[in-house]
Amino acid sequence: MRIDLHAHSNASDGTDSPTEVVAAAATAGLDVVALTDHDTTAGWDEAFAARPTGLTIVPGVEFSCVHTREDDRRISLHLLAYLVDPDNAQLQAEWERLRLSRRTRAEAMVENLVADGYPITWEQIDDLAGGGSIGRPHLARALVDAGVVPDVDAAFRDLLSSRRRYYVRKADTDVFDALALIRAAGGLPVFAHPIARRRGPVVSDETIAAMADAGLVGLEVEHPDHGPDDREHAAGLARDLDLIATGSSDYHGTNKATPLGARLTDPEQYARLLALPTALRPVAD
Ligand code: AMP
Ligand code: FE
Ligand code: FE
Ligand code: ZN
Repeated sequence: MRIDLHAHSNASDGTDSPTEVVAAAATAGLDVVALTDHDTTAGWDEAFAARPTGLTIVPGVEFSCVHTREDDRRISLHLLAYLVDPDNAQLQAEWERLRLSRRTRAEAMVENLVADGYPITWEQIDDLAGGGSIGRPHLARALVDAGVVPDVDAAFRDLLSSRRRYYVRKADTDVFDALALIRAAGGLPVFAHPIARRRGPVVSDETIAAMADAGLVGLEVEHPDHGPDDREHAAGLARDLDLIATGSSDYHGTNKATPLGARLTDPEQYARLLALPTALRPVAD
């Protein structure tokens, strides 16, 4: 069984439509794919309708969260919420708030870039996002299209990273509130790329232990942004805290180099996830 539990469509910052994501999953020889767009369930129905025979779809959402440390430093982090009730009013309200914050934040970043003479427009970004959940990859594409940078990676490195002055943060949800919301809506929270240091500061092992006490069920151990040491560390934490160890490509179409299936979830770990009570079941034959 080939299981990839984290992929994005153009409902957020991926470049494939949900239809294209599930078709690409079948072509990549996957048996199971999870569609996990940022702060939205908008791609689910199209993915279900386009599901190739033999492919199982695990619906999910990648929830934008923040943890404020004791020294008041804010660490941004992502929770994958699998098999969660899409009609839960509190979650939908929170995700709508986040999508709005993504929008106003992107507008502010465009203003910062335009003020320094970078030739992009808000209209361009709005077009690229196509009504979906807006993210920095949309800004990156606009900068590539304008010839400012050669590729999305360079756009992040030179202009869009949280270490650059054009960066504006969005109003993410406190991670402990998010864990409670996901569990109350019958979802399974898994900590996405928990030690992806190249994206910025990461939370401590103690915080991960506190998250496990607060209802976290898994850790994404296999991820393109984890080096061998990070994987080993995450695997050790999963063992110590009795968390399910998942793996995924975090596919974003042409916005990232990683193809679907580049990292996989062990079938035994997937079975552990499915054994937990959830609001929804995966969509399968
Ligand atoms: P945002 O959610 O708007 O803060 O933007 C973060 C998103 O940008 C994440 O979903 C990442 O997948 C993506 N991202 C971060 N760094 C890079 C990079 N170097 N190249 C492509 N995408 C990236
Ligand atoms: Fe993304
Ligand atoms: Fe993420
Ligand atoms: Zn992701």
